[in-house]
Amino acid sequence: MEIKFEDLKVLYSEEQLHTKVKEIAEKLNKFYNGDEVVAICALKGAVLFAADLVRELDMPVKMEFIRLSSYGSSTTTSGKVNAVDINLPDLNGKNVLIIEDIVDSGLTAKFLIDFIHMNFHVKSFKFCSLLDKKITRKVDVEPDYYGFEVDDKFVVGYGLDYDGHFRNLKYIAYKEN
Ligand code: 5GP
Repeated sequence: MEIKFEDLKVLYSEEQLHTKVKEIAEKLNKFYNGDEVVAICALKGAVLFAADLVRELDMPVKMEFIRLSSYGSSTTTSGKVNAVDINLPDLNGKNVLIIEDIVDSGLTAKFLIDFIHMNFHVKSFKFCSLLDKKITRKVDVEPDYYGFEVDDKFVVGYGLDYDGHFRNLKYIAYKEN
């Protein structure tokens, strides 16, 4: 599948995303209640969501970044999670919040959840994803917080790419068939 800018249709507008980010942040603010959190942004797709989300958080936030990949230049998961860069500080005793762009097969989420729990005894662990493609799930994981549930369509924009393109769009879009 090739995706051209002209073929894109808006799925969630800038305004819808903004409202949703605030809604998620409100829930997180309630949960953490002023306690410091280490927010781990899963690059590259979650970069814009994480940037907007952390700015709505009330508590002290430390940001970390990790990079995983499972797609390459295709539009379907390779089925194998590749830890490109997963250098993290000591997270023992910390409130850990993973910020992802989308949970699809769930393999990346499962990898991250297992990685954190195998390496650290955290104070709390929450997984937050802007989008949730429940219909394509292959492993049994659910984000603790998510913004929108999406059908089995390949989406781009607001951090999500197709072969490196479209991350800078202010909205989430998909290619109409
Ligand atoms: P999973 O491991 O859950 O199958 O996939 C997670 C990763 O695949 C996401 O972090 C994202 O980078 C990529 N991904 C899954 N679905 C989509 C999609 O519809 N569009 C884009 N651009 N990336 C996706």
